[in-house]
Amino acid sequence: MTISFYDAAQVEDLLDYPGCIDAMRRAMIALSSGERPQPLRQIFAVGHGAMFGTMPGELAALSTFGAKLVSVFGDPDRPGRSRHQGVVVTYDGATGAVTCIADAEPITRIRTACATAVATDALARADAKVLAIFGTGVQGEAHLRAVPLVRSFEEILVWGRSIERTADFASRMSKELGQPIVAVPDGQLAASRADVICAVTSAPEPILFGEWVRPGTHVNLVGSSYLGPVEVDTALVAKARYIADYRPGVLAQAAELAVARETGVIDDTHVIGEIGEVLAGRIPGRENDRQITIYKSLGHVAQDLAATVYLHERSRTVGKARCVEVARF
Ligand code: NDP
Repeated sequence: MTISFYDAAQVEDLLDYPGCIDAMRRAMIALSSGERPQPLRQIFAVGHGAMFGTMPGELAALSTFGAKLVSVFGDPDRPGRSRHQGVVVTYDGATGAVTCIADAEPITRIRTACATAVATDALARADAKVLAIFGTGVQGEAHLRAVPLVRSFEEILVWGRSIERTADFASRMSKELGQPIVAVPDGQLAASRADVICAVTSAPEPILFGEWVRPGTHVNLVGSSYLGPVEVDTALVAKARYIADYRPGVLAQAAELAVARETGVIDDTHVIGEIGEVLAGRIPGRENDRQITIYKSLGHVAQDLAATVYLHERSRTVGKARCVEVARF
């Protein structure tokens, strides 16, 4: 009876994008089928302008429960950028014993982008050809790796607040992915060409506006993940079919939804449902080719638990040397 520890390199090694996409699809269906409500996560300020989040939850479908503990601190190696550091702890749902402790940073990076890919697959038009990523940080890179796995994009655009950094990012990612990725200096230009948009910035104020987005576009809102920063304006929220990762969490903690609600333009019924309900066929996703759809990602611990269970199972099939095991406490 042991606890398996996975460091960042081991997580990277075991958590492949296609496998994680499948794991996220199953996790989101399970989350939306849960018999019990999940606790809402707590995020509070620590240190100097930094945050700490505690995210407990259960994934009964995989017979596990647990928590992610994660800090969001500025990254001294990348000025203006931040790191999500912490651990995911999974428990055995039958015995209550701790099973795994894994580095939360690569899990957060990969599971977030893979969950977006799942939502894009469910909500974007089948003929989507142009992808635009707003943001050139950790999530920008992960989304470039994940989202093209669910659609054959002919053009991939990236926008960032600094055209120099965006051009460097596009050039590096073009080489790594073997596909042209174009840096676009103007967010409006990128949005107005896109069939799929991923907003993955830390911008505190809107960087994407409803009037820029064409009918038929699917938009993933990922960067604002607590009440505070607002990446998009109320016009975009109001005109879209708005699907949550987890409805109670989004109603309580989605900043752009709260702003739109405060102005009286929408109410809680604007959140049509959860992506897991769309995946399970319980509610329609996109209703026509001219509808704008939004997937709102706050991030849920069900995703972290599912990713950890997946990589733990994969470790067993490729050999125990992929993790450190210690006797249980
Ligand atoms: P990084 O720090 O690696 O990247 C942040 C990106 O946001 C950079 O491209 C940065 O631009 C850009 N940015 C920062 N401020 C602004 C601004 N004022 N206007 C425009 N762009 C800006 O962070 P991550 O990629 O790890 O995370 C991005 C966001 O996603 C964060 O807010 C994070 O909290 C959130 N997140 C959400 C998750 C979810 O589950 N929904 C999970 C993980 C993260 P530049 O390159 O110029 O510095």
